[in-house]
Amino acid sequence: MVDDGVQAVEQADKNALAAQPMPGLGRAGAEPRRKTISNPYVHRLQRRHFLLFDIVPIVGTAVALALLTVRPIGATEIALLVAMWAVTGLGITVGYHRLFTHRAFRAKPALAAALAITGSMAGQGGLVSWVALHRRHHECSDQEGDPHSPNLAGDGLRGRLRGLAHSHFLWMRRHEYPNVVHYAPDLIKDRALIRVARRYNLWVALGLALPAAIGGIIDQSLVGAFYGLLWGGLVRIFLLEHVIWAINSFLHMFGTRPFVSREKSRNGGIFSVLTFGESWHNNHHAFPESPSFGLRWYRPDPGFWFIRTCAALGLASDLKTPSARRIAARRTAANDTVTPAVAS
Ligand SMILES: [Zn+2]
Ligand SMILES: [Zn+2]
Repeated sequence: MVDDGVQAVEQADKNALAAQPMPGLGRAGAEPRRKTISNPYVHRLQRRHFLLFDIVPIVGTAVALALLTVRPIGATEIALLVAMWAVTGLGITVGYHRLFTHRAFRAKPALAAALAITGSMAGQGGLVSWVALHRRHHECSDQEGDPHSPNLAGDGLRGRLRGLAHSHFLWMRRHEYPNVVHYAPDLIKDRALIRVARRYNLWVALGLALPAAIGGIIDQSLVGAFYGLLWGGLVRIFLLEHVIWAINSFLHMFGTRPFVSREKSRNGGIFSVLTFGESWHNNHHAFPESPSFGLRWYRPDPGFWFIRTCAALGLASDLKTPSARRIAARRTAANDTVTPAVAS
């Protein structure tokens, strides 16, 4: 998804610090710190990440599908795919998104570390980069500066298709890198967390090695290991990536809008289980600080169920779920203040 979580963050920090005066330290009248960084080094890392973590899973999935004609998969491959999908999917939605980006609850250090690791295993970018990009998405949603809006490529069918392709996939090849000093200072200061997050490549490799090892042990063969690597590793990364990216692309174009606002986020309720609750995206934009994206008990939200379970076990606390009254007030206020042209 983004740059390598180790080097890019460090280099971007260095670039940002070197190029931009820190508040209070710069010359009088100096320019304020830039919010994004764009240089050949960062773009090289982005291209490398795109090839390794976004293109390779597509190739792996194509190989896995082609091999189905030679040897059908069994319960082991399906179990590895589902289990690794759930573990890494929760790492992204509960860890990367709700905990680290939006601070929607507090987590005990062991839970935070586990979520940083399982989120990294998804191969969608280093923790600090992911958080900075997503905070910028909320800041600039569907306006200039949004790293992945589908709504800025022009009108008409052609513009909409171009916007979808950009927001779903193509933006990751090369994009402005959000200055992590500006967007994620809380994470950078957390030394224990950074020690875990900087091993991004290791965690991705572990996410591939684990299903390979389990597949090999169960099948007692290298073929079993290879199939475990394919289905629990590459196919799982491919599927989870496209589900999460669909939130960025399709759910800023299609779906329902109970909360009308400046940005064009949508809810896609029928995909809520498949996306761990992420598809309540319009709800999320309305209440980004809420650990619950469904907002009400009858809207499936597996990510929130997981957080509730962690809270019951004493691993999570301070769940900032908005009250029914606040939700109703927000809906009315937003719908009243947005003009029809913006709400379209
Ligand atoms: Zn969004
Ligand atoms: Zn968010």
